[in-house]
Amino acid sequence: MQPIPYGKQQITEEDIQAVIQTLQSDFLTQGPKIEEFETKFAHYIGCEYAVAVANGTAALHLSVLALGVNEQSNVITTPITFVASANCVRYGGGNVCFADIDPATGLLDIEKVRELLESKPKGFFTGIVPVDFAGLPVDLEAFRQLADEFNLWLLEDACHAPGGYFVDKIGQKQNCGNGKFADLAIFSFHPVKHIATGEGGMITTNNRELYDKLILLRTHGITKKPELLPPDKGGWYYEMQELGYNYRIPDILTALGISQLQRADAGLQRRRQIAIRYDAAFRKEANLTILNPAAYLADKTETGHAYHLYVIQVKNRRGLYDYLRQHQIYAQVHYIPVHTMPYYQRLGWKPGDFPAAENYYEHCLSLPMYPTLTEQEQEFVIHQIKTWLTNEAN
Ligand SMILES: *Cc1c(COP(=O)(O)O)cnc(C)c1O
Repeated sequence: MQPIPYGKQQITEEDIQAVIQTLQSDFLTQGPKIEEFETKFAHYIGCEYAVAVANGTAALHLSVLALGVNEQSNVITTPITFVASANCVRYGGGNVCFADIDPATGLLDIEKVRELLESKPKGFFTGIVPVDFAGLPVDLEAFRQLADEFNLWLLEDACHAPGGYFVDKIGQKQNCGNGKFADLAIFSFHPVKHIATGEGGMITTNNRELYDKLILLRTHGITKKPELLPPDKGGWYYEMQELGYNYRIPDILTALGISQLQRADAGLQRRRQIAIRYDAAFRKEANLTILNPAAYLADKTETGHAYHLYVIQVKNRRGLYDYLRQHQIYAQVHYIPVHTMPYYQRLGWKPGDFPAAENYYEHCLSLPMYPTLTEQEQEFVIHQIKTWLTNEAN
């Protein structure tokens, strides 16, 4: 059997043809495929505006700039995320303030965030970056309420959750990144994510003003739009109005993104099937805990979990990780708590600061989860884990 990774892209013949067509077109970058991808992605997510960029980290960087992060900013995020969710605040010169996770979900604990907010004078904190970790949507309605109470912006890191949703207080589905509650949301199209373009990212919003800023910042802060320029300066005239970046994504990659987007729902369906199968295999295992076992099992209702990751927890995680590797199953650990990274320790954070996050990290393991994982491969993974559990127990 081939090695089994924890995540993997799927490239079809259609995807390949879409890229070839763009290679043969007039535009490799700055062409029509970018806007087409943005429009289709916004439609998929159910938001007003989408801005395609070079990668998810660039999406985070531009977002904090548009939101006005500077040296005075104190921004709250979770320690259980990819480092980029926190780093973006540093790009803007601001301070990252962590709050612990809810061990039941792995998500930023809103009660801990409230405690942190109340520990400082109003106005001290400026924003929150909640993460739809593993694909489980954050209750952004609750976070919005809290944010409004403390006059904060919300930047949703939805990299794990395109197609995910939560159900709000009046029973309506709210898609991750739809801009209903968060000011901005960001996505990544790295190959381990749901939609793969190699490198790529997207920012979504319903806020026109933020959208206009993002468009400007994506291309050096330069505009050629007549309505933003003095009249009658000549056809060549442009202005650099802000300090921006070149964070564009090329047409070649957005063509791939458009093609991938057509299969997004099918991919999500497949991820949910895989999750149900893992749930059924492991729910009765005494020495294994499923993080966010699907609600399917309890009452057959569907959750809006997008299953970027399928996370289990075991006592001897190192043992299971090594055992699976011996059998060419490359399960992965998500994540080493960000506040324990040497860079953040130099900023004053230390192990022991967030016990729930650190305890989660000690035991977590992300199992193979991607649409092309075959039934046979999944059965092999399940079989190996059960074998290991039996050996551990003896
Ligand atoms: C992947 C990821 C990012 C960064 O995306 P890139 O496209 O790799 O820059 C940010 N946040 C989270 C939670 C991610 O999973």
